[in-house]
Amino acid sequence: MSSRSQILMCHPAHFDVQYVINPWMEGHVGRVRKDVALEQWDHLFSVVSQLVRVAVIEGSEDLPDMCFTANAGFILGNRFVPSTFRFYQRQPEIPLFSSWFDDAGFDVDDAMADTPFEGEGDALLQLDGNPTPVLWAGYSVRSSLESHREINQRLQIDVVSLRLVDERFYHLDTCFVPLGDGRVMYYPAAFDEMSLKQIRQRVPGDQRLEVGESDAMRFACNALLLDHTLITNHASDRLIRQLSDWGYETIVTPVDEFILAGGAVKCLCLIIDQHANPVGTGHVESPIRSTHVELHGHLLDSGLINRIFDSTNDAGGEAKVEQLTIAQRHDQPSTAQLRIIAPSADRLDMIINRLMLLGARPSDEPQDARLEPVTKDGVAPNEFYSTTIYPTEVRCEGNWIPVDRQRMDAVIVVEMGHRDQSMARCRLIRDLRIGQRIVCGVDGVRVNRPMAKLGDKEFSFMSAGVSTERRVELAVQELAWEMRRIKNRGGRIVCVAGPVVVHTGGAAYLSQIIRLGYVQALLTGNALPVHDIEYNLFGTSLGVDLRRGVGVHGGHQHHIRAINLVRGAGSIREAVEQGLITGGIMYECVRNGVDYVLAGSIRDDGPLPDTFMDLTQAQAAYAAAIEKTDMILMLASMLHAIGTGNMTPAGVRLVCVDITPSVVTKLADRGSIESTGIVTDVGLFLNLLARRLSQSDA
Ligand code: NAD
Repeated sequence: MSSRSQILMCHPAHFDVQYVINPWMEGHVGRVRKDVALEQWDHLFSVVSQLVRVAVIEGSEDLPDMCFTANAGFILGNRFVPSTFRFYQRQPEIPLFSSWFDDAGFDVDDAMADTPFEGEGDALLQLDGNPTPVLWAGYSVRSSLESHREINQRLQIDVVSLRLVDERFYHLDTCFVPLGDGRVMYYPAAFDEMSLKQIRQRVPGDQRLEVGESDAMRFACNALLLDHTLITNHASDRLIRQLSDWGYETIVTPVDEFILAGGAVKCLCLIIDQHANPVGTGHVESPIRSTHVELHGHLLDSGLINRIFDSTNDAGGEAKVEQLTIAQRHDQPSTAQLRIIAPSADRLDMIINRLMLLGARPSDEPQDARLEPVTKDGVAPNEFYSTTIYPTEVRCEGNWIPVDRQRMDAVIVVEMGHRDQSMARCRLIRDLRIGQRIVCGVDGVRVNRPMAKLGDKEFSFMSAGVSTERRVELAVQELAWEMRRIKNRGGRIVCVAGPVVVHTGGAAYLSQIIRLGYVQALLTGNALPVHDIEYNLFGTSLGVDLRRGVGVHGGHQHHIRAINLVRGAGSIREAVEQGLITGGIMYECVRNGVDYVLAGSIRDDGPLPDTFMDLTQAQAAYAAAIEKTDMILMLASMLHAIGTGNMTPAGVRLVCVDITPSVVTKLADRGSIESTGIVTDVGLFLNLLARRLSQSDA
């Protein structure tokens, strides 16, 4: 046995559950059986002391968790890095541990300022089986990701950051054990997918022992490994066998009274003799990256700050507010400066991309956008920047260039020119050609997402909201007012509509609205014109007499006959001009010079000669039709409305009318303040709207 102590324990004379800082403590305040706890600790102490020398630190009356020495700090060689506890209840332990290490001759580091680090609870060293020592480190519940970078810099050690996602496994040592020979034992459900991938990349399959839920819940992984002996609170026969196959002896010594506070064997033991191999030769770079973003607007009442935190955490990063200026009046904006930390450069790009969508702006010294060439027609380089609906700029040779043809789900192609003559434009992936240069990553990309201002709520029932039936009349009144203003200034309104418009008897009202000059283009499929023309020719829509609401004998063939008639005439326009079609939506479009684009689908009968059956052409024709549009009215067509929404930049007023709330929410919830959803029957809606528009025109 070595003359130096290898383990530090703390006698649990003052152990108790007095507060709740983890889920295990809930319901256990004041319920610890002190005599049982003492007996279990004594037994563990004797088991460990038979194998290695154990030092014992005095506890303190006010510190009921001090017996969990593993959280005191982290030791490497002769250096002790004290913890910075996340919860104030445990912070007074630190000076006591630090002075013990000082007295024992260790070099005591300064604690990390401002960033939680909970010592060996979240930092487990693996010395062998890897070319260099590896520090497996947990973050998210207690320790911060930032502390991992700090530990890497202080100790020059390779730190592998693993994100914990289950509050019950709040420290890495509750769900992960580095064994000898590069092997590991762990409970997979405690980690996020990104971290499991890291474990799989670092440790081959036959070196990983995945622990099941029932072992994990009884703290089997909270185990102390001393050479080839694993000491734990519990291990199933299967786990004991698996460990034995790898040459480990398992000693089970129950400490379940301590589990009332969320700790077991490993938590009660701090390894203080970790210097077997020389470490820290050369520079070990941390993959952790950070940057700054700023926010401006109604950060607190709009819940934006919370959304920034949630979005960053969900993606495995951390957000830290470094500066916050709260508005003094409710109508003034607040500003904040945040530091965003991520486990890798790729993750940071992904998080910043998400935050820009929420309105955050990168605030570090800007860099030029990274441009990568297209190497295969129709395929973008892997790290391409994926566009949003918001006005965007990219930085090229120090100049910010506005991106043309803004739309979502596209990439940005940059054509470099002399001085500030470079051009940037959104392109669909399928249209890319070899040699074009594409923006990759988020550096040098600036998204100008308008922040909600209180003034925007002037007509709040129309702003990014979903109106219910009771509010439809009010919404229609407001919409009519807006449409009239657009018409008066010579603006453009595009109507996207599905065949339900005809089935619900709305065709006559839409025709009237077109006649009044409120629609400049109609985007639809094959079915709306077919049923509209069928109605004009036969008085039925899909064979149903709309006036009486009953099926007509032989009516099922009407739509085929209508299609045949238009095919015979050559096109809808020719059928109108030949006097074959005498009324209805398509008739009014032709007569009033309204553009229409018909996009085909697999459901289509016919099709009509005007229908694009090539979807690439149809998408291009839709995109051309919505250019410079002020408002898009989406009427009961999920397919065409979503298709159009994807190619519409922010700033265009979207009004979506559908009977299904989820369709409306999906379309209205583009995060842009200009979208409105109205949940109602489209026939009734058009009736109300036509009436309002003709009244205001009268
Ligand atoms: P869709 O499913 O994309 O959209 C229909 C929408 O109408 C749904 O969101 C639904 O909730 C909504 N709706 C239903 N009843 C409503 C009411 N009374 N008031 C308001 N909203 C109501 O389908 P689509 O747009 O009808 O057609 C998709 C494609 O299929 C188009 O290309 C179309 O041309 C083609 N197609 C349709 C028919 C047809 O009869 N529907 C026939 C052949 C081809």
